[in-house]
Amino acid sequence: MSPSDENLGLYVHIPFCRRRCHFCAFYLEIAQSDSMALFHSALVQEISLYRRKASLDGHVLQSIYFGGGTPTSLPADQLASLLTLIRATWPIASAAEITVEAHPTSVTVQDLTILADAGFNRISFGAESMEDKDFASIGRFGQVQDTAVAVQAARHAGFSNINLDLMYGLPGQSLQDWAHTLESLMMLAPSHISCYALTIEEDTRLAQNIARNLVSPPDDMLQIDMESAAERFLAQEGFSRYEISNYAKPDCACRHNLLYWTGGEYLGLGPSAQSYLHGIRFGNVADLGAYAACLNDNRLPMTDHTTLSVSERQRDALVFGLRLLRGVPRTTITAAERDHQIEALIAKGLLDADHNWVRLTSLGRRYADTVAEQLF
Ligand code: SF4
Repeated sequence: MSPSDENLGLYVHIPFCRRRCHFCAFYLEIAQSDSMALFHSALVQEISLYRRKASLDGHVLQSIYFGGGTPTSLPADQLASLLTLIRATWPIASAAEITVEAHPTSVTVQDLTILADAGFNRISFGAESMEDKDFASIGRFGQVQDTAVAVQAARHAGFSNINLDLMYGLPGQSLQDWAHTLESLMMLAPSHISCYALTIEEDTRLAQNIARNLVSPPDDMLQIDMESAAERFLAQEGFSRYEISNYAKPDCACRHNLLYWTGGEYLGLGPSAQSYLHGIRFGNVADLGAYAACLNDNRLPMTDHTTLSVSERQRDALVFGLRLLRGVPRTTITAAERDHQIEALIAKGLLDADHNWVRLTSLGRRYADTVAEQLF
């Protein structure tokens, strides 16, 4: 096995949701049986074209991630057969991490048993909050009780590696509400938690509601306090923060997402999925009709294709690597004049460095992209 084989992942983008949450700007389609059937046959064809191109020959998949959208919009047996097809197409490491994202309302214990039996060994639920009152203003359907039932069902089906996504800084959410959400989450005993600050994306219903003064915008200072509260509380509960938004119990850091932050290679399938292979970044068209039409015509549905220069790879290594709490090796920042820049950022309290590693401080994490740009 070559060194790059250790870091190869497969991402499958399933772009369906029952309806769009008010804050969500992802490419997605509202789940309907005819569009899901069109997607499924196009995805099978995309896998077949990649097999014929042999572009992954010699690689062993270390992680597979079914994301969305809501992958569990598709029937569980269809997800299981897609995973079987992937297994028949590419070699997969025996200890590979195989994740499926799910909305808590979209799965039954029978579905989860089918998924676990098929080989999915990690599940990620969009919990968002553990207070029902937080859901209306962000247009997230379902109730807190659904999350509790789904986690219990997942555990019953055999999943032990369970992630729960949370958002903070929601309209009307106080610091006490956030503390309550974190405490309530502990009763579900997840192995991994992602905490995302609510951001307002253009052209979303939430952005429109804020513009019309129907909903209050996020308060930056409150979000900073919430972030600190999460870090303190989750550390007490045995979670280590390993990335700006991610906390894990020992050995439960998400190996697939670590690929993105450490320059690993990945192939993305499905509309809008992104890939990075052999130094080339490329993406699929973000439109189901165009995606299916290309594949029906025996063409891969790529829209862009960029070979990264050495300097672009170094920049990516910095921008993504600094998201990790451990930071980046000092050798990632090569030019001698950057030592001055590192010292200047240390003096501002944004960076911390030792002989071998450079990492963001808690203040620096709030300005991660800006700090990375200054180092490049
Ligand atoms: S469930 Fe996730 S992907 Fe679907 S609309 Fe809501 S935030 Fe977006």
